[in-house]
Amino acid sequence: MKAAVLRQFGADLSIEDVPLANARDREVLVRIMATGVCSSDLSTIRGKTGSELPLIPGHEAAGIVERVGAGVSRVKPGDRVVLSWAPNCGHCFYCHQSHPTLCDTYGAAAGAGALWDGTSRLGGAQPIHHYSCISSFAEQAVVPETACIPITEDVPFAVAALVGCAVTTGFGAVINDAAIKAGQSIAVLGVGGVGVNAIQAAALAGAETIIAIDINADKAAVATTYGATHFINAAAPDLIEQVQALTHGRGVDHAVECTGRPVAMSSAYAITRSAGSVVIVGIAPVGAQFAIPAIGFPGSRKRIVGSIYGGSVPEQDINTILSLYRRGRLPLDAQIGRRIPLEQVNDALAWLEAGVMARTIIEFAA
Ligand SMILES: [Zn+2]
Ligand SMILES: [Zn+2]
Repeated sequence: MKAAVLRQFGADLSIEDVPLANARDREVLVRIMATGVCSSDLSTIRGKTGSELPLIPGHEAAGIVERVGAGVSRVKPGDRVVLSWAPNCGHCFYCHQSHPTLCDTYGAAAGAGALWDGTSRLGGAQPIHHYSCISSFAEQAVVPETACIPITEDVPFAVAALVGCAVTTGFGAVINDAAIKAGQSIAVLGVGGVGVNAIQAAALAGAETIIAIDINADKAAVATTYGATHFINAAAPDLIEQVQALTHGRGVDHAVECTGRPVAMSSAYAITRSAGSVVIVGIAPVGAQFAIPAIGFPGSRKRIVGSIYGGSVPEQDINTILSLYRRGRLPLDAQIGRRIPLEQVNDALAWLEAGVMARTIIEFAA
């Protein structure tokens, strides 16, 4: 199959013919139809996450089931699927604690750049690492069966791909982890692929004040399109005072941090009211720490919540989101920017790095 392979951090991905082994027990071979280019791919490709090479990136994807390995019951060949990039085993401590995205089996596999059994299906005699058990910058992928979430005919693959990462991450951060209530206030730091989905979810949930915060003033217009009621430049020296002026002098009920910048995490904490929730979504570089004033923390009764994949149970939340999409409650098509072939993947990474908002989708011919 044709795939985009990362052989050196910071270098372009190379388009190569890569051998793909068959699906083994509880694995599924999926023909990729659409895959988004997400900032997590970019961080990995630029060497910020410490992955092992060579590697095929891509984790925000949808496609059609081609073959199933032994013991697979949830999908069959021909099924259209969204891929969850956190396929859980169903048997470990965290699976039993109802934290499927913290699955130990998945975590070990993703950390090793492998599938659940610790081995790769990519590259034949010269194995190539998987990315998050998905590796969708390729014509096909072998994934654990629980990565496959069936979808109906009326969801376009490009939209389904988006729901596979950015939408669920932003939506879930607000709905599951901030657990926002109608009438509340929220700040979203970082108006990117995840941030716009956090803003949109807050608007859908009936938030009264939605403050978008970004270092790029050009993001104000797009933030408003998705439902932001106010925009503040993250670099403003009076950021905290500006937020307080919009929130009865208290600070927001919830802040959702989507940039991965430690300074923004500290800002998110500072602009949240006492007993409010600070939801950290952005992935910081290896070794980074963020600071909060320790003396005030106990008395603030603030909650700081780590949010991965929107705190979702992927098969439940992805279906909820797609149901909202079908009913026109969650317009997702507008998030899609350019549609490109796999050969242009390096251009897509450059656009993402330059701050282009709309999601680039790599599409494959049927
Ligand atoms: Zn992603
Ligand atoms: Zn598990």
